[in-house]
Amino acid sequence: MGMKTTVLLAALISLNSLPAAAGGFEDSLSTENLLSMEVPAAAEAAPARDAASDYARYYSALRHYSDIAFRSEPGTEAYAEAYIAANYLNGRLESLRGTGAAKSARIDLDFLGPDRATLAEIDAFFGWGNVMKGEQLSPPVTIKAGFATIKYVKGNTPFLVQGDSFLKKGEIILTFDDGPDTHGLTAAVLETNEGVAPSIFFVLGSKLGPAGREVIKAQARKGHEVSLHGYWHATETGKPFTAYSTSQAMADLQKTAGLIKNATGKDPAFFRPPYGIISPAALRDAIDELGVTPMGWTIDTLDWSTRNPDELFEKTVSLISKRGKGIVLMHDIHPQSVQVNVRLIQWLKDNGYKVVNPETATRAFRGN
Ligand SMILES: [Zn+2]
Repeated sequence: MGMKTTVLLAALISLNSLPAAAGGFEDSLSTENLLSMEVPAAAEAAPARDAASDYARYYSALRHYSDIAFRSEPGTEAYAEAYIAANYLNGRLESLRGTGAAKSARIDLDFLGPDRATLAEIDAFFGWGNVMKGEQLSPPVTIKAGFATIKYVKGNTPFLVQGDSFLKKGEIILTFDDGPDTHGLTAAVLETNEGVAPSIFFVLGSKLGPAGREVIKAQARKGHEVSLHGYWHATETGKPFTAYSTSQAMADLQKTAGLIKNATGKDPAFFRPPYGIISPAALRDAIDELGVTPMGWTIDTLDWSTRNPDELFEKTVSLISKRGKGIVLMHDIHPQSVQVNVRLIQWLKDNGYKVVNPETATRAFRGN
């Protein structure tokens, strides 16, 4: 057995002058952040039993799935599966923050991908492990032709697929999920976007304490849409809404809608389910009872998959250039996203794009 090259990820990166944010993981694969070293192959075969090896396997799997998601067309089964898996992995990595795991994690950059333990974990979390070989997926359910469809993906998971044919070439809708951040990140987005880029903020009810309420009040005051994501993300243990009954999901959404209305004086106009996962029945209930317009995305920046703002900016503008318009998904809880947002707003302006009012989507959904 020879030696195998792996890398030790140095956790410290000087990303920003912005305040420390919740979320994101501690590293970037840009070479200046990597410290190469040689370790015996035997060390890699050790069972995944500590935080560092958990970090390494989650990270390795995340890079794999986020690369697939980046290369796949949103709305395809390959995209949905990779997106869902990567979101789970990002959550696991975030939970390991502060343990020092990132500093001592050994990641083999030549063989990125999920190992057996990680695959089994993802399967168990989303109930994908119960799927029989060759099992047929249910046919898609049209919510509004050309606008929103529930497509069944791996494990018969109902996934919201968004259409953007209502947008003209060059038109962009900006959306930010999982906030509000109360340590300055959301405030920075508000400052950048004020008067030039009306945006939709899909917020979490669990973040609407006194400080969070102040942030969403500011969002509403500045002409943005404060909209529904869920109370947790979506269940308290981070499982999608399909882990709830339809009435439990509705109770969660009603509670969150109430918190938004209470703070902003306005009912939320849009709903985006966490992971994009929602049953047709629950989505229809939300539309009918809460009056929301369902909203997925057509441009996924995968902004949580890197902490490197240059890499994120390049990926984002390449995705936008390729599609020529679309509904852009970002998160106002990561420093790199907030930094890229500044450059993106300028880039859109310089390249003839127009950030349109989200009401464009409501009209498309309500109209014939
Ligand atoms: Zn989310």
